[in-house]
Amino acid sequence: MDFEDMLPETLLAQAGGAIDQQSGGVVPPIQPATTFARDENYNPLNQNNIYARPHNDVARQAEAVLAQLEGGAAALLFPSGMAAIAALFRTVPTGGRVIVQSGIYWNTTKWIRDFCERRQIVIDEVDASDAAALAAVCATGPADVVWVETPSNPWLKVTDVAAAKKAAESCGALLAVDSTAASPILTNPLKLGADIVMHSTTKVINGHSDVLGGVLVTKEVTPVWEEIEVDRASAGAVMGPFEAWLLLRGMRTMALRVERMVDNAMKIAHFLEDHPKVDSVLFPGLESHPQHELAKAQMPGGAGFLMSFLVKGGKETALQVAGKMKLFHRATSLGGVESLVEHRHTIEPHTSIPETLLRISVGAENAGDLIADLGQALGQ
Ligand SMILES: *Cc1c(COP(=O)(O)O)cnc(C)c1O
Repeated sequence: MDFEDMLPETLLAQAGGAIDQQSGGVVPPIQPATTFARDENYNPLNQNNIYARPHNDVARQAEAVLAQLEGGAAALLFPSGMAAIAALFRTVPTGGRVIVQSGIYWNTTKWIRDFCERRQIVIDEVDASDAAALAAVCATGPADVVWVETPSNPWLKVTDVAAAKKAAESCGALLAVDSTAASPILTNPLKLGADIVMHSTTKVINGHSDVLGGVLVTKEVTPVWEEIEVDRASAGAVMGPFEAWLLLRGMRTMALRVERMVDNAMKIAHFLEDHPKVDSVLFPGLESHPQHELAKAQMPGGAGFLMSFLVKGGKETALQVAGKMKLFHRATSLGGVESLVEHRHTIEPHTSIPETLLRISVGAENAGDLIADLGQALGQ
């Protein structure tokens, strides 16, 4: 069977591909060498490998899987999601302009704001889940990058990627999508028109809360992409071979994990929506979500595993509910096989996160156990 034709489940279960010719192993080897030898005529023994900063076989194997999963031409791994975001924004010229979705992953907003200030880059922040609002901002003049995040964190807003692409095109910008909360299993932004998709592979792609990483995948190899590639190789924001190997290993079960997590999340969302001590649930899988229809079209495999809910009462009640949870770990991050709960207001008091909002990342545990934990924490 041709590698190109493999469906995601098959591609992932065999991520890393062919049998290792040297050992016969069914998983790829880790090559920790930082430098690679040359022959008597000074030719590299392996044409692909000269020095480990730009050349890392296992990272290339993981990149090939991610590029194929997203339907892209190429992928580049970075040592964290933020490093991937920074690599893209560093291509924006001094004095340029970027349009960034508001109410997204806080550290993205914070870093982009600081960066734009240093570079005299104009930044327009807009609720891009409102397609008309995004189009209106794009219509005000040319820009370099439009950055959206869908579903957004922690508001779980869904941005219409195809509409965002039209808006970005109208102002000559490339459209980049942070698809971390969706995963490559549930949405493929490049297939919907985006130019670049970004993931924090720290989250569901690795899935085991034990490796930091980030990836950019491009639809086409453009001059901007080549600039990112050259900059990574020489500025050195690379993922090491051990991390890349763990990532590849984690990816092998991604399709299974996402399937279970999506199923658990849907059950939990219904439970919370009906619970008398819950004010509202923010989850695009629920019919009550304002963008439920868009989510169904854009995320046909399910609305993900991330959701927020507002507890009735005040800040103290919300903190008490989080404090009583036994299975959900009280920790930041998302996408791991273990369920997590976060009181976002404590982390980001300066943003307008409601004090009663709890964000949960639903893991791969038994749904009944998770529901029982939420039930006892809320008080039945
Ligand atoms: C975690 C996260 C990031 C940043 O990724 P790191 O790997 O922590 O650097 C960016 N965007 C979203 C949506 C995230 O969840």
